[in-house]
Amino acid sequence: MRESKGKAVVVGGSIAGVCAVQSLLSAGWEVVVLEKTTAPPTGSPTGAGNQAIDAEKKMSRILTRDESFNFRAAHWSDLHGLLYNALPPDIFLWGHVFQSFCVSDEKKSVKVQTKVLQTGNIVEFACDLLVAADGCLSSIRRAFFPDLKLRYSGYSAWRGVLDLSGDENSDIFAGLQKVYQDLGKCLYFDLGSGTHAVLYELLNKKINWICNYESKQQYDQENARATWCEEHKHDSDPLHQIVWDRVVLIGDAAHPTTPHGVRSTDMAILDAAVPVLHSRKMGRMKQGLVLADGKVFDPITATPQECKDLQQKCMPGFNNVP
Ligand SMILES: Cc1cc2nc3c(=O)[nH]c(=O)nc-3n(C[C@H](O)[C@H](O)[C@H](O)COP(=O)(O)OP(=O)(O)OC[C@H]3O[C@@H](n4cnc5c(N)ncnc54)[C@H](O)[C@@H]3O)c2cc1C
Repeated sequence: MRESKGKAVVVGGSIAGVCAVQSLLSAGWEVVVLEKTTAPPTGSPTGAGNQAIDAEKKMSRILTRDESFNFRAAHWSDLHGLLYNALPPDIFLWGHVFQSFCVSDEKKSVKVQTKVLQTGNIVEFACDLLVAADGCLSSIRRAFFPDLKLRYSGYSAWRGVLDLSGDENSDIFAGLQKVYQDLGKCLYFDLGSGTHAVLYELLNKKINWICNYESKQQYDQENARATWCEEHKHDSDPLHQIVWDRVVLIGDAAHPTTPHGVRSTDMAILDAAVPVLHSRKMGRMKQGLVLADGKVFDPITATPQECKDLQQKCMPGFNNVP
């Protein structure tokens, strides 16, 4: 039997959590995952998408095309299911809400307290490494950055996945494919000032849809905590530190980003600094909001370089990714 490298507690059993578990197990660590939801997720849509269709003038204008870009979107829950099902289920403790942690004086171990939802009991775990995969509103991050407030992007979204996989003869799917022959490439509809919708096809007859709309109301962090998962989009400037002795932040806990870069789920920790800012710029361009140089992106007067900036393949770290 391989000697254990140590014990790790991962808080959060979503995408970043299951990826961390894969890496830790293959590196010889013992792992336990504390996840506040009571069962593995069964569905959660994500997506983003670049052909502009002007609703008012009833015309289509090509802003940018990624013809040779071999990019294919995946449904979040398909991806999570694939990663999760490849792991031993007994290392996941569902219904365990992380409460607090304490690093030993000699900085060699960590004690983690968690509340068991079913009993209300507080249970303590001792470990050598605490991995914070608890998402964009990470409470572990708050211990290191108590004053950090997420930055509201200025726009919100409705989103969902139309699942037609069970309907062999779906008229809706056939109709969409007939009308929009570019469906697989992401369609980007201009629905009026500051509003756009995105449609693209996922595997197995699923259609991802998002409707982004300008919303000037500022959401504070407390509000964001309750509503992030719904639709208000936030990010933060890249953190100057994500590892402290025995604690590491990963995924959205380390780099909360707006979804326009289509990169957050698979964003590697080391490339976090660049995609967050690029994703922010892309989101503001697509929403017609004021950019860092004080100007607003205008599709009519846009330069070729500005149109190129909208291409997904120009996203830092995204080149030649299959
Ligand atoms: C509108 C929208 C569109 C998006 N579109 C895309 C896209 O097109 N492409 C893309 O790649 N990404 C997209 N994303 C982002 C993507 O969903 C996240 O980047 C990804 O899920 C982050 O994974 P994570 O594991 O870091 O965090 P999360 O998925 O947020 O998971 C955090 C986990 O920690 C758990 N948790 C939190 N607190 C506690 C606690 N105290 N105790 C125990 N468990 C806890 C939560 O229950 C959750 O399971 C989008 C997001 C939004 C909101």
